[in-house]
Amino acid sequence: MSDLREQLNRTPLRLSGYVADRFTASSGSEEIGVFDPTTEKQVATLFESSADEVDAAVSAARMAFDKGPWGRATVAERQLALNAIHDAILSHADELALLETINTGIPLAQTRTVHIPRAAYNFRFFAEYINQAGGDVFTQEPGLMSLVTYEPIGVCALIGPWNMPLGLTAMKIAGALAFGNTCVVKPSELTPLTVTRLFEIIEGILPEGVMNLVNGRGHVTGTSLVSHPGIDMVSFTGGTVTGAAILGSLAKGIKGSAMELGGKSANIVFADSDFEQAVDAALMSSFMNNGQMCLAGSRIFVDRKISDRFIDSFTRRVKALKIGDPALSGTEIGPMINHSQRERMERYAGSGLGEGATLLAGGHRCANLNTGFFFEPTAMLAPTNELAICQEEIFGPFAALQLFDDEDEVIAKANDSDFGLVGYVWTEDLNRSMRVASALRTGTVLVNTPIVRDLRTGFGGYKQSGLGREGAKGSQAMFTEMKTTIIAREPRKMPRMGMAGA
Ligand code: NDP
Repeated sequence: MSDLREQLNRTPLRLSGYVADRFTASSGSEEIGVFDPTTEKQVATLFESSADEVDAAVSAARMAFDKGPWGRATVAERQLALNAIHDAILSHADELALLETINTGIPLAQTRTVHIPRAAYNFRFFAEYINQAGGDVFTQEPGLMSLVTYEPIGVCALIGPWNMPLGLTAMKIAGALAFGNTCVVKPSELTPLTVTRLFEIIEGILPEGVMNLVNGRGHVTGTSLVSHPGIDMVSFTGGTVTGAAILGSLAKGIKGSAMELGGKSANIVFADSDFEQAVDAALMSSFMNNGQMCLAGSRIFVDRKISDRFIDSFTRRVKALKIGDPALSGTEIGPMINHSQRERMERYAGSGLGEGATLLAGGHRCANLNTGFFFEPTAMLAPTNELAICQEEIFGPFAALQLFDDEDEVIAKANDSDFGLVGYVWTEDLNRSMRVASALRTGTVLVNTPIVRDLRTGFGGYKQSGLGREGAKGSQAMFTEMKTTIIAREPRKMPRMGMAGA
């Protein structure tokens, strides 16, 4: 790790876009520094894709879709390519995990065991899925057969966030390609290392122009991409404010979209839960990935009957979390992605105290870590659900605990949120788990389990957490046009118009 880090510090990578099978020229572009949040040193220079370059990328994808072989490739051919990408990622797994850790500050233990295997698995999953996925046939209408089939939608703009750069962007790429589309990918300007490297390691697997890359800031490259008339849809994962701006720009062209946005997920711990499991999961849901997770279950509701014991155990464990260099084994929390994300943590710590919350742990920059954007894992006990720390997505290692007395009360509080991504329920009472799961207004409910993504199911949000679902059928809906073909199975009886003079 330190070898690669030193090498990047000595000679930062030069990153650009990738259009029609070639990395684009970098001269004359705006140059943006990409940093390692642990050392605060520059690890790459990003040559920003201009509007012209975005245009070239969309044109290449359009040409590949309209005239190239990919749109007409058989399922077997697409499976072959997807499986080859899966294998290419796994054969570079160590390097990709290191790059991801250097660029994001997420512990290597997590990028190695979760992010990169997940990125690869997306391709294998969709390769398998398209072999079984089908349409529908209806024969209820007398004399007719109605067929529902799914066709590729065209050129997909795929925009990913910085908190799981390769894993989340790979899911979009795999889904778009599996259903026969071509694409233009834009990673976050903060974390372009692994997605750009992906284009190098899969060179030659796909026909020219099927997968293109633009690199740059959201308000420059991202805006050019989502407002380009040549795209057919946008699949976006990121913040709710950005998602809303993109939706506004898509409305003009009546373009489709899928939006995976923010969350503020309730994690409800009833007195009859398996206590140790519930504490373990509350820690994991709040602090894994440095707490920078859309599906963080960091709005923790604790049954008053067990609150003293729960808060004591949770707080002791938060204070014992191992913070430091994410490359070292044993590190549980790395740095925030950048300076402004750490300031955001400070602001929420201040606002929590100002609004009457009690500090249980953390709340400050790490006194002994002067380099790197480190912030202490933080837990606060909030008097009500109205506090900003209970309503707004903080996106860092920050848990906001509240107490409750009964089931109806906690359901109402859990649903009192602009978001609706995930709900976590901890109880040993089956009937209660079913009642609460159906009452929660969230796209996913997890009962007695921490974070799980099962690609066979749809993942996405109610309310301001998004539009559409990612996963098998959800991705099919996202990346295809549904076509209805109705065929007469016998001559049709119909009124014969215009027969008066016949
Ligand atoms: P942002 O919304 O800031 O950015 C997401 C992506 O959009 C980045 O690539 C960004 O580029 C780009 N972008 C920014 N502005 C525009 C624009 N006007 N037009 C087009 N693209 C633009 O989100 P973050 O990267 O900060 O990610 C964190 C957010 O993502 C959190 O809210 C989190 O909840 C959400 N998220 C949701 C998930 C889900 O599945 N629901 C999963 C993971 C994260 P750049 O960074 O270069 O500016």
